[in-house]
Order: sequence, then structure tokens, then C-alpha cells
Amino acid sequence: MIGLTVLGSTGSIGISTLDVVARHPDRYRIVALTANRDVDGLYRQCLQFRPDYAVMAHRDAALSLEQRLKEAGSSINVLAGVEGLEHVASISDAHYVMAAIVGAAGLLPTLAAARAGKRVLLANKEALVVAGELFMQAVEQGGAEILPIDSEHNAVFQCMPADFSHGLDQVGVSRILLTASGGPFRTLSLDQLQDVTPDQACAHPNWDMGRKISVDSATMMNKGLEVIEACWLFHTTPDRIKVVLHPQSVIHSMVAYTDGSVLAQLGNPDMRTPIAHALAWPERIESGVAPLDLFDVARLDFEPPSLERFACLRLAYEAIEAGGTSPAILNAANEMAVDAFLSGKLRFTDIPGGIGSVLDTLPGEHGADLDTLLAIDESARRRAEQLIRNRV
Ligand code: NAD
Ligand code: MG
Repeated sequence: MIGLTVLGSTGSIGISTLDVVARHPDRYRIVALTANRDVDGLYRQCLQFRPDYAVMAHRDAALSLEQRLKEAGSSINVLAGVEGLEHVASISDAHYVMAAIVGAAGLLPTLAAARAGKRVLLANKEALVVAGELFMQAVEQGGAEILPIDSEHNAVFQCMPADFSHGLDQVGVSRILLTASGGPFRTLSLDQLQDVTPDQACAHPNWDMGRKISVDSATMMNKGLEVIEACWLFHTTPDRIKVVLHPQSVIHSMVAYTDGSVLAQLGNPDMRTPIAHALAWPERIESGVAPLDLFDVARLDFEPPSLERFACLRLAYEAIEAGGTSPAILNAANEMAVDAFLSGKLRFTDIPGGIGSVLDTLPGEHGADLDTLLAIDESARRRAEQLIRNRV
């Protein structure tokens, strides 16, 4: 039996992961489930999956979960805070760790899993955006294995030759083609974008996801973060990655080879496919995803993205170019701006301007260690907070 810790089990990826796991009770055993403060959600999952540990990032939430589990006669160990998350990410019974916390909050527990040499199923792209270099070093030193969950990166992984870690040139790969749906507002005019609401932004045409990544998809910051993620995962540079708008979300990404071959991975837009792939790799298991019906799909369209229209994608490219701590600043400012938009404090069209101002006022640094990165993340959040407050 493979022991699995699911970080962020009450979220969209967490729930899809447990759906796949429930189809294979003979193969996987849940060691730990974690959430931020959703006591009801984690309580229900604990009763169904009977993990050894349940962790809540919020201490008060952990106390109420502990109380409810005790009343239900359960002996599950309840832990709290980031130390609790790090503990279950590195514990020896957990062979695999699904990293599905949203945002930079996932960095420390995901890093703990990498240092402990786990198979890390990486959904939490922000961890790589904030601390890519340190994270990849931890993977190497800890002897961890990373299996990408982000659908694009999982698709690229599936289309890459096995020895890609030696460098793309060594294995005859010329480019990575990262597909993007363009989100729910792809065809709206810039004028129409002014008044879009959080619910409209979260109504993605193809994917059902958490609210933060849904807004990121609508601004295309998500694709910017994914370009950074791909650079680290596939040992390459942004000039080798081409973003392709593909509204149907059927091709999840492609790898172009020097001989002219282009390999693509296709499937219905359902995260259970990459999750099942990463759980079972190199084997294949049933995921619950409906087979792809190409006659139903009928056509596949492609277009280049406009960096004028999707200013967040441009900001992400600039942050990669600047390197060092700039991607961490970009990420922190984006998390704050998205949060402000979701709570009605910022207009959708103000998101890129807010992030740009934070990047302009905080200088990037090179060679930062973890503590410096965390401090920079914090200052970028405080700066973004001020800007947002002044706008209201
Ligand atoms: P979500 O908001 O649905 O779930 C987030 C999970 O993280 C929840 O369990 C929540 O309790 C937990 N969490 C939130 N803040 C936390 C904190 N401060 N400390 C500890 N736990 C915390 O998010 P999601 O859509 O499942 O996305 C999770 C990650 O996967 C993100 O990094 C996202 O970019 C990535 N991802 C998601 C999808 C998707 O289809 N949802 C696809 C690709 C990549
Ligand atoms: Mg993706």
C-alpha cells in the first residue's frame, strides 16, 4: 500500500485526488489530510478516509475539528499550523505527497516533502514561482521525485523523453507549446472587462477550479505562473516556451522536437487524469474521467495570445526576465490583488496595474535564501495592501 498525504484536501484538486484514491482502495492509503479552516469539509473527509492525521492551518479550526472527531469516537491525530503541515508532508508513512494548497502558503509544507525525498505530486505552482531554485535544490538533495499535476505540465511530462533532465537540447526537444484556454473573458472587449464580477471570472468555460486559479485564468496570470513553473520543471528558459491559445482545452500541451515532430497529450478537461497519471506513474490506472469523444470535440482552434490584452502575462514575462526575487514579488502581489478582486475591493481591470506598481517599487534581489524570500513575500503583500487600500 502506498501512503499518501493530501495537502489542501478540501480544495478542488484535493477533492479530485480523493475521488481517484477512492477508486483504488487496494493501492493507496491516506496518511494525512489537511485544510486551512474548513472544519466541516475536513471532518467529512476524515470520517470517509480515516487518515492517521488531520491538520488545520488555523489553530482554532484545529481545536474544533479535534473536538468533533473525539465526539465521533475517532482517534485521528489532529495537528495545527505550518509545523503540522510540514510534519505530515515529511512523515515516513507518507510515500507520496499531493501538494494542493493554493498560493505561497503551500511553499513550506511542499518544500518539507521535497527535502524528505517524497514523490511530490505538484499542483501548488506558486511554490515553484516563489522559490524555484531552492525548491529544485531540495528535490535534488532530498532525492525527491516531482510529478506535475498542472494539466499543461503533466501533458508536457507525458510527451517528453524520459531523460529530459539532462537538458532539452540533449534529448532533441526544440520547444514546449503550453496551451491556454484564454479563460471566460477571451472574447470580451477591454471596455466590457471593466465591470466583470468575481462570479463571472470564476465561471471558467472548461475547467471547474478553486476561485484564485479561476481568476488567474481569466487574467492569464495563470499562464505566466505556468511559464515560470515549466522553466523549473523542464530545465529550460522562457524563450523555449510558446504560449498557444486553444479555447477548447482538449490538447493540454505539446512538445516540439528538432526533427519536426510535435507530440501532444489530449483528454477531457478533468484534473483526475493528471492526478491518476501522477499517482500511478509509470503505470496507468482508472481515473473516472469520461473517454474523449473527438467527434463531439469536432474542431481544435489555436491563436497567439495578446500581451496588451493580457497584461498579467506580460508582467509575468518581465518578472522572469528580471529573475531573482521578482517572480516571488509578482506572485505575492497577484495573490493580494486577486483576493481584493474576489472580495469586491478591486476591479478586475485594476489587477495588472496593482501588481505592476508593487513590482516597480520593490527591487528584486538575486541569490536570496529562504528567509529572505519569505520576508520579500511579506513586504510585497504589505505594499499591495497599501495600494489596494488607497484605491478604495
Ligand atoms: P482551492 O482553493 O480549491 O483549495 C485550496 C486548498 O488549500 C484547500 O484545501 C484550502 O483549505 C487549502 N489552503 C488554503 N489556504 C491555506 C493556507 N494558508 N494554509 C494551508 N492550507 C490552505 O484551490 P485549487 O483550485 O484546488 O488549487 C490548489 C493548487 O493547485 C493551486 O496552486 C492551483 O494553482 C493548482 N492547480 C489547480 C487546478 C485546478 O483545477 N483546481 C489546476 C492546476 C493547478
Ligand atoms: Mg494549468
